[in-house]
Amino acid sequence: MVNAEIGVIGGSGLYSFLEDVTEVRVDTPYGRPSDSLFLGEVGGRRVAFLPRHGRGHHLPPHRINYRANMWALRSVGVRQVLGPCAVGGLRPEYGPGTLLVPDQLVDRTKARTQTYYDGEVRADGAEPNVLHLGFADPYCPAGRRAALAAARAKSWDPVDGGTLVVVEGPRFSTRAESRWHAAMGWSVVGMTGHPEAVLARELGLCYTTTTLVTDLDAGAEAGEGVSHGEVLKVFAANVDRLRSVLFDVVAALPAEADRDCPCSHALDGLETGIELP
Ligand SMILES: [Zn+2]
Repeated sequence: MVNAEIGVIGGSGLYSFLEDVTEVRVDTPYGRPSDSLFLGEVGGRRVAFLPRHGRGHHLPPHRINYRANMWALRSVGVRQVLGPCAVGGLRPEYGPGTLLVPDQLVDRTKARTQTYYDGEVRADGAEPNVLHLGFADPYCPAGRRAALAAARAKSWDPVDGGTLVVVEGPRFSTRAESRWHAAMGWSVVGMTGHPEAVLARELGLCYTTTTLVTDLDAGAEAGEGVSHGEVLKVFAANVDRLRSVLFDVVAALPAEADRDCPCSHALDGLETGIELP
């Protein structure tokens, strides 16, 4: 049976060594997700892995079909999503290797569809209502607690809270943009954490992100700024412990019957106009 309860959006390094992984191709009313879903078991939980950039990393952040990705996860039963991502640190003390679990988000993306409820008739004839959901606290409190505890248990002292600013990319920030982000008090900068977070909320899914700092952003360091090679190097050096922490988070997430966080009630009493998978 094709089902999962927890979704993990991240690279193939997270699931490639699991035994008994089932590849499932899923289509959605919003088109195809980034890749197949890869279903396997971690810590006694059924997990669906989705390579955010596709296998071989052919999709840049602004071309990812975020709506299809979140819909596909929900359609195989997923109700809680972990969306780890690589970020730049906006403060000198958040150097490479820092694990930060944000509690806030600033959206600086420019051209990404970030709602299911736009009143536009879909290709399949379904007609979503126009909705405005609360998003004051973008992340699942239960997921954040599990992530922080799992990191601490692995002696990877995490930064508890902070603001992730998500930029459009694919380029990195200018020095002026980076200094501005830092001056606003924001903590880390990335390209993929949004609209994943809000689309999860719109589907009543829990969403938690754990950010791994791979470099200091242009305004926070004195040198030439970020290079892609540098980012990959730090990511590779940390992927094993990131995976081990994520798997502990998966095991520690609440069972579906015990899920009672605000995200799980995001759609209570609302008429979406469309049937959720
Ligand atoms: Zn939640």
